Amino acid sequence: MLKVVKFGGSSLADAKQFKKVADIVLAEDCRHYVVPSAPGKRFSDDDKVTDLLYRCYEKASKGESIDDIFTLITDRYDGIIKDLGLEDFSLEEDYYFIRHSVLHKAGRDFVASRGEYLNGKILAKYLNFDFIDAAEVIFFKEDGTFDAERTNDAMSQRLAKHEYAVIPGFYGAMPNDTIKTFSRGGSDITGSIVARAAKADIYENWTDVSGFLMADPRIIDNPQVIDTITYRELRELSYMGATVLHEDAIFPVRIAGIPINIKNTNNPTDRGTMIVPVAEEAATKVITGIAGKKGFSVITVEKDMMNSELGFGRRVLEVLENEGISFEHLPSGIDTMSVIVNTASLEDKRTRIIPQICKATDPDTIAIHDDLALIAVVGRGMVASKGVAAKLLTSIAKADINVRMIDQGSCELNIIIAVDAADFEKALRAIYAEFVG
Ligand code: ASP
Repeated sequence: MLKVVKFGGSSLADAKQFKKVADIVLAEDCRHYVVPSAPGKRFSDDDKVTDLLYRCYEKASKGESIDDIFTLITDRYDGIIKDLGLEDFSLEEDYYFIRHSVLHKAGRDFVASRGEYLNGKILAKYLNFDFIDAAEVIFFKEDGTFDAERTNDAMSQRLAKHEYAVIPGFYGAMPNDTIKTFSRGGSDITGSIVARAAKADIYENWTDVSGFLMADPRIIDNPQVIDTITYRELRELSYMGATVLHEDAIFPVRIAGIPINIKNTNNPTDRGTMIVPVAEEAATKVITGIAGKKGFSVITVEKDMMNSELGFGRRVLEVLENEGISFEHLPSGIDTMSVIVNTASLEDKRTRIIPQICKATDPDTIAIHDDLALIAVVGRGMVASKGVAAKLLTSIAKADINVRMIDQGSCELNIIIAVDAADFEKALRAIYAEFVG
């Protein structure tokens, strides 16, 4: 058994958290590779070290003094080192080098990446594990995209030389050896890359929640934790805005068929959520989760006999494509076509789109309606269960909400509905109450 374990920023925010992390890592010999984030918040209005580093970079690039902010950062690390009792350990040389680099216009990504780099050094020392600089094993291509295969080769060769190691999250190297980071929250991706390269049996992702919740806790009181979710279901829910894990973190482990276990550093005995390639047991619930987002618009085009007009849909979509707008959903009737898009992507383009669609398709009517919310009800259990759509629509109707669109995925993994943004929260609560209680 081999486990790769990633710890988020709140799990490593101070020495107390570091101790919990060490207890977890050292409790099982099979936890060979550890991927840390930078120190996160210790309390709600605390600063994340990564944010401080970005601020430091901004100041330096404007020619302002970085003294105060740099001291805030080094104090965070020094506090951790001291409280862990690491007496013979110091990061002074690294601070000196980083400070010098920042003042001499080091890149923004380099500066941000030092949060993970320094935290990784402390953690390696504390655990007595080897330290592997991610810049030596994670690679990006010239165009800035992640080089999965080169990374996988280099990473697996390197890991073979270290029985136990810490690999800092969030960054890697460009072909010219400069540092590049993933997008925010990207340590999840590093963990996934390491898990794939190590051929891990499991990728444990330790956070400050006991798993993936069935619905947004800001809207639903105390939602249940999802026990097991498939990669596909997770993708559907994350697309709709549910977040625990960085979306791109799924791909490396998915290729390798490695399950992810979301765990809580502050409650390590909680089972957490298992994210699996295929669920082995039949789903115990009809739905796995509900998620949704506001900020959608629908472009509705109507034309008599549209169904027999060859190329109609293509012409509408071509206009959007030429304007660089991608569509989210395409629910269509016989003589109507509705294209759901992100309102933000319409921006100032809306006045151009309508005449172009008119010219391309000569419709009877065309309109754009804003302020829609989409809700996805996701569950692998839906295939085996009858009347899910009926139940869903009844729950919405009982709450006196008008459904503007319904779209059931052909794989019966999800049903997506659109409601007015004003009804969003109420609709989510009605659905949750109907299916979960
Ligand atoms: N420290 C980085 C961030 O705050 C990456 C991470 O935590 O995953 O975005």
